[in-house]
Amino acid sequence: MGTTTPSVPVIYQARKMATLDDAMRHYGITLTTNTRENVYHGHCPLPTHRRPGGQSFRIKANPLTGKMIGWECLSVSCANARRSKGNDVVAFVAAMEGCDLDRAAYLIIGGLLAKK
Ligand SMILES: [Zn+2]
Repeated sequence: MGTTTPSVPVIYQARKMATLDDAMRHYGITLTTNTRENVYHGHCPLPTHRRPGGQSFRIKANPLTGKMIGWECLSVSCANARRSKGNDVVAFVAAMEGCDLDRAAYLIIGGLLAKK
């Protein structure tokens, strides 16, 4: 992978191949649903999260389909410790694996989150 490889198509391709639902299943993350607010929440699973406890991790769901559409951790220190910003599945894998978005995209394309 040379530095001339355009990364946006790779990230775009990875986004089409996997969802946040796939990522939650792959990493064994259990979240509580609040259907009235269309949000899932629970303990933050990210390695950048230093403060145990709390329900700072949230994923918004599409109110019509229930599919997960974007994640966030409300802890400022957790957010600041992450190298890549974003709230999609590629950014989540990058945060979990401690890598950049390109590497996360290649992991997803390589089948990291594929159903077994
Ligand atoms: Zn966190």
